[in-house]
Amino acid sequence: MKLKEITGTMFAYSYLCSRKLWLFSHNIALETESEDVKIGKIIDEYTYKKEKKNINIDSVCIDFLSDGIVYEIKKSLAEKDTAIKQIKYYLYILKNKGVENPNGILKIPKIKYQEEIYLSDKDVEEIENKLLEINRIITDANMPNDKKLKACSKCAYYALCKI
Ligand code: SF4
Repeated sequence: MKLKEITGTMFAYSYLCSRKLWLFSHNIALETESEDVKIGKIIDEYTYKKEKKNINIDSVCIDFLSDGIVYEIKKSLAEKDTAIKQIKYYLYILKNKGVENPNGILKIPKIKYQEEIYLSDKDVEEIENKLLEINRIITDANMPNDKKLKACSKCAYYALCKI
């Protein structure tokens, strides 16, 4: 089965909320209005400016530090788990392109947190299952039903989502 192109943002959203994933995949991108997203972009823009290189591979844009390590910068620990999933997705893409043992780093400058990220066989299995699930959600003509989440009140889609 040919899967739709799945960006890093879509992959991360799949762990947060299926409605958010569906809305975003239908080109309804309200995230630019969210204060949290604005802060995240500012952090990304001004941190590791010199060392950073962007590379586009298929549907994703990956940030590298100068030594070739995939990295992701987040503003708080609350984003840690999703960020790790996203980095592993990038490592998976690189591995499929023939890069041997790719690895990554998650950084949270505000609390001086750093974690190295590797891709295991179990991760590969989880990612492939997740890609199938994402494909099913985004190719559905209808927005999925979901429960109201803790994050809903801060979500940029809240007014549109009407959950
Ligand atoms: S408001 Fe809640 S349910 Fe709707 S997209 Fe946002 S997080 Fe998901």
